[in-house]
Amino acid sequence: MDHFLYRDGVLHAEDVAVPEIASAVGTPFYCYSAATLTRHYTVFDAALRGMDHLICYAMKANSNIAVLKLLGDLGAGMDVVSGGEYRRAIAAGVSPSKIVFSGVGKTREEMELALTGGIRQFNVESEPEMRLLNEVALELGKVAPITVRVNPDVDAKTHAKIATGKSENKFGIPIAKAREVYAEAAAMDGIEVVGIDVHIGSQLVDLEPFRLAYEKVAELTGVLRADGHTIKRLDLGGGLGIPYAHGNQAPPTPEDYGQIIRETVGHLGCEIEIEPGRLMAGNAGILVSSVIYNKEGDGRNFLIVDAAMNDLIRPAMYEAHHDIIPVIEPAAGAEKRPIDIVGPVCESGDTFAKQRDMTAIADGEMIAFRSAGAYGAVMSSEYNTRPMIPEVLVKDDQFAVIRRRPTFDEMINRDTLPEWM
Ligand SMILES: *Cc1c(COP(=O)(O)O)cnc(C)c1O
Repeated sequence: MDHFLYRDGVLHAEDVAVPEIASAVGTPFYCYSAATLTRHYTVFDAALRGMDHLICYAMKANSNIAVLKLLGDLGAGMDVVSGGEYRRAIAAGVSPSKIVFSGVGKTREEMELALTGGIRQFNVESEPEMRLLNEVALELGKVAPITVRVNPDVDAKTHAKIATGKSENKFGIPIAKAREVYAEAAAMDGIEVVGIDVHIGSQLVDLEPFRLAYEKVAELTGVLRADGHTIKRLDLGGGLGIPYAHGNQAPPTPEDYGQIIRETVGHLGCEIEIEPGRLMAGNAGILVSSVIYNKEGDGRNFLIVDAAMNDLIRPAMYEAHHDIIPVIEPAAGAEKRPIDIVGPVCESGDTFAKQRDMTAIADGEMIAFRSAGAYGAVMSSEYNTRPMIPEVLVKDDQFAVIRRRPTFDEMINRDTLPEWM
């Protein structure tokens, strides 16, 4: 359930009419619902009740600091994958003791930043990374708390670009090699082992891969403890999928997912960390766009809108489906026709939907892409010198711009001419 509903025939975000926001900021724009974000956090929190746990929001899904502050104030920690994200989390007021650092390519500078500023743990993804981290920690006179991300070789059955738990993926160390790596860690003075980490992919709509992965982690916990390691935390990653298409079979709920965690690792006495991103933010956001032209093609009609692949790249990059609805509710029984919904960018890939059944939407009217709160604004670019679009946060009957549209001067003045020109 989210908070984007028609009221009196007009799409609202909570208690605010979408056209009211459009009048204030212009289209296209992203709009997030505070109540939906809050609800998603609360649902995860409830799903893990009875277990010592920390929800580390995977902020790469949506890293606007207003979103981070909202979740942080509810009690969330953060999963960061870069020094930039670490800085954002700190800027949003998140305690370093709740920040975990993931990612396969952490640099020396990023390690220094987190070791100096404070960190809950590094999720180490390779032996060379662990050796460098040990070196950097020793230089700074610190000890780096770590988990090792293990790759359980489980098929997440998701889109190839977002599957991370098979041995052919670049992530983590093979689970069969874990004992060796933990033994090496134990011998390092700059490293303190605190647990195990796993993350098998994104947009999982089946719980079985989670169960298989978590069973392997449970088994490994026993093995590593017998080897004398302290395993007090299990970071179980993110990846729970969301419904993108209305009416399709709904993916498992956080409650079902929590049950899997309870069954597989609940008996180990570990603190549980999870790193949901998409499920926290995805259905908490919409992208609002205006129709520029209705174009009649040869046997194919196009709705050319003012949002483009640079604003929302998921359809072009992952063949992702987004439900697209008119901002003004169509009359009951209004006729639907198949139409291609495309942006203005000079690429055929700039297509949001092909042959989508839609009611007639006139030039100048607005549409909303649902489920656009995660991996939307964060993946946007200025391709075609299109300004990054505003982000708006709604809370009850209030709304605020939480990232404004840059001016063209700001965009152009970032470039500089070499002296010799
Ligand atoms: C991307 C990512 C997540 C979040 O995945 P979602 O599908 O958005 O829940 C969590 N942990 C790690 C390490 C990631 O890379």
